[in-house]
Amino acid sequence: MKRLLTACCLLLPGILLGPFSVASAGQTSPEEPLRAPLVKNRAPLSPSAFYLLPLTSIKPKGWLRQQLQIQADGLSGHIDEFWPDLSSNSGWLGGKGESWERGPYFTDGLVPLAYSLGDPKLIAKANKWVEWTLTHQRPDGSIGPEKNTDWWPNMVMLKALIQYQEATSDPRVIPLMERYFRYHAAHLTERPLKSWAKFRWADEVLSILWLYNRDCDQSLLELARALQSQGHDWKGEFASFPFTAKTTQKQLGLGPGADTEVAMSAHGVNIGMALKTSGQWLLISQDESDRKAVYQQLEKLDEFHKLPNGMFSCDEHLAGTDPSQGSELCTVVETQFSLEQLIGILGDPALGDRLEKIAFNALPGTFSADMWAHQYDQQPNQVLCDLQQRAWSTNGPEANIYGLEPNYGCCTANMHQGWPKFAASLWMATPEDGLAAVAYAPSEVSTVVKKGVHVGILEETSYPFDGMIRLAVSPASPVKFPLQLRIPAWAEGTIILVNGSKQKEIRAGSFYTIERRWNRGDEVVIQFPMQVRVSPWIDDSVVVERGPLVFSLKIGEQWSKITKGMGSPAAPPAADWAVAPTTPWNYGLLLNKSNPAKSIEVIQKSVGRYPFSPDGAPVELRVKGRRIPEWQLVKGSAGPLPASPNPSREKEETLTLIPYGSAKLRITVFPTLQH
Ligand SMILES: [Zn+2]
Repeated sequence: MKRLLTACCLLLPGILLGPFSVASAGQTSPEEPLRAPLVKNRAPLSPSAFYLLPLTSIKPKGWLRQQLQIQADGLSGHIDEFWPDLSSNSGWLGGKGESWERGPYFTDGLVPLAYSLGDPKLIAKANKWVEWTLTHQRPDGSIGPEKNTDWWPNMVMLKALIQYQEATSDPRVIPLMERYFRYHAAHLTERPLKSWAKFRWADEVLSILWLYNRDCDQSLLELARALQSQGHDWKGEFASFPFTAKTTQKQLGLGPGADTEVAMSAHGVNIGMALKTSGQWLLISQDESDRKAVYQQLEKLDEFHKLPNGMFSCDEHLAGTDPSQGSELCTVVETQFSLEQLIGILGDPALGDRLEKIAFNALPGTFSADMWAHQYDQQPNQVLCDLQQRAWSTNGPEANIYGLEPNYGCCTANMHQGWPKFAASLWMATPEDGLAAVAYAPSEVSTVVKKGVHVGILEETSYPFDGMIRLAVSPASPVKFPLQLRIPAWAEGTIILVNGSKQKEIRAGSFYTIERRWNRGDEVVIQFPMQVRVSPWIDDSVVVERGPLVFSLKIGEQWSKITKGMGSPAAPPAADWAVAPTTPWNYGLLLNKSNPAKSIEVIQKSVGRYPFSPDGAPVELRVKGRRIPEWQLVKGSAGPLPASPNPSREKEETLTLIPYGSAKLRITVFPTLQH
């Protein structure tokens, strides 16, 4: 591949020369590695609406830091000590063991977890994987275990290396990527993308564009175009979307003589990953139809497969809108990552609403509170987790138990990226060298704004459990820059105070921009309205929401270890768990007809150590309901939703609802009752 450097790096504004230390950006620890500078898109790429900040620019605080610490104390921080596929025998550490996607998956989540927490032990663990890849590139430019001939796992490792480079400025990463992409370009024709790589090509384009913005090598864009021409046409698939109901094995061509291309195109993880495809391609194509394609994809998924936890159904293939269908954990974390990338490219606040809904509901809802066990598939109406075969599209009987590697070990390797990448995406840079809050959680951002002035913003809040957010702005010297605050679509009536002065014309579903000269000690207070919302759902059912949180019936949980019947039983210290209900679940809600939210009382508690546990739920709702006797288990799941409004005359009871993520057994989609 001919190397063609142009002068674009010299001509375009936006690059900050040289790495700067975290300490010089207002942080306290001079021992931390040198963070790489922010880099913006270079011509001919179109500019992005926002830019993700280099890893370590955002430190989690408060409950979010505690959540990352729970993760580090759970499987993420320990799985390499006992799970064979991530042991020192991994091909990605020079061993003879697993040599495909699991090492890269783990590294892709461990790097941001370790560096966001600044935990030296975890950083050493993450660096071990990064270091092996950096020191074992072959002379032809290929990377990873020699026996791997699939392009796909390399795409994941490149994403991990990017994050590592941004956190450390390690000068070896960019040359490795340059050599690797020259290698890929040289072998494009003889080894075209196939199987997973064909459907996940945008993940490599992401790394190609990252590198292009740093070295301006035009041949990288040729490689991106070649990958697009070999890759699956996601835009075309969703333009004439064939999967308008729960997929069947027959439709997917599964079984003998399977047409796996159809199955791949209805595969949940592929689709979650593909959500970013048209957005990324828009940067190259500058074709407005690619922007529209992003929304067409989201709209089709909403129309035919939407679930109330922010996800679409995929157990393992698209599965319709019944709340007893599942969503795979890999799809949850990949959809989050896609949305984080899309918010950067498109700057659409609605994408932030979607991201928060998944991160605050679907993500915690599918882990045990201590993050030592996870599910493969979670259900919005999940009333029993055991080894019965459920009505999944294609998954097996283990898919909804909590364990080490239920159903299949992809999620076991890939789940680690969910929380840390969310934490690293809360704040983004704006093209005018300002800052945008695209999602909210306790954090501290430290970066450079206009005129190269370092600024830190401390965000103190219990959001999403409470609507009050305080931002303490601390520029190194007084500086004018725009601060853009996402106002969620549900947040009609938001109040914003700047140093006590009330701001005007704040619109829900937009970014509110405060452009002023900021001084140390300036304070912005955001007060989101946290009224309960009762949202209409399928078959005249309802879903109860408050802010970005979805609420579920609190069901008594009996956790028991599964000792028999697992294909790959958990090795200690991990365990597999069945969860059985100890209290009834088959309730309908008794709601005030003209103002349903009026029927619901809010009980606010403090945020404790495990907010995503039934007893640690920081918010509880109380609402009246009655049991609906004919609503019973079918194949281990809550059966089809009873008709609403339901005529049940069972005795009236006061029900407790808790955040979806706190409830490991739950009813989320409720029938309503006749008065
Ligand atoms: Zn998975």
